[in-house]
Amino acid sequence: MAVLPLRPGTRFDHFHHIVFCPETREAVSVDPYDDEAVRAAVAANGLRLTAVVNTHEHWDHAGRNAAMKADSDVLIMAPLAAAGTILPIDRMLCDGDEIMVGETVRLQVLATPGHTMAHIALRGEEGGIPFLISGDTLFAAGAGNCGYGGHAPTLFDTLTTLAAALAEETIVYPGHDYLARNLRFAAHVEPGNDDVRALASEIADLPPDRLRFTTLAEEGRINPFLRCASPALRARLAELDPMLDPEGDDRTVFLALRAYRDRWAEAA
Ligand SMILES: [Zn+2]
Repeated sequence: MAVLPLRPGTRFDHFHHIVFCPETREAVSVDPYDDEAVRAAVAANGLRLTAVVNTHEHWDHAGRNAAMKADSDVLIMAPLAAAGTILPIDRMLCDGDEIMVGETVRLQVLATPGHTMAHIALRGEEGGIPFLISGDTLFAAGAGNCGYGGHAPTLFDTLTTLAAALAEETIVYPGHDYLARNLRFAAHVEPGNDDVRALASEIADLPPDRLRFTTLAEEGRINPFLRCASPALRARLAELDPMLDPEGDDRTVFLALRAYRDRWAEAA
């Protein structure tokens, strides 16, 4: 195991992922918001925190850097494109960079603009299985909003690239636990999707302390933002949004879906 996911119960339903080397016990915290919960988990698991990585500049991801640094002398790593908005940064990260965690875990930095233009994700492997720490780019059954410094066409390009580049068995570790809500939206825009219904009933029966992460293959079956080619989704979305041409290209459907999801969230 290389990723320790936490769900500390923040008011924004954050996940906090701690990536660690099982050999040296060195650890990296991605986007700590509840920094006390991260420190407690680090101590409880006999880890030594050496760095913090921010996926993007939003305060609920990068706002606790100073507190983390004050407590233990960790290195702050953040996207180069967020320099000036994220403070402090000790190491700037660009697409293709690598981060070693201890001696055994190698993280690859992927530029994933769209939710914000500076956004990065981290790709790694645990026990031979690939994972992606996706921040606010890709959620379980959903995608990041673009209303706070983002750009929806760019997010479409990023998600298309990720879906093509990553192995199907990749485990997705997102920055927030929006799965239940996202499945309600997925069922709303694709009522006949049995995979959405099955996962919704599976997570309804989970004990509260059990975390459920999805693979990229599952995302392809349940995530409406990765299913813009689905005729059923197109037909339903055209009912909900008469301005949408159901014969349009995937990008057009994605943009209509993103805009509709924003309105749905406001009405919910
Ligand atoms: Zn964000």
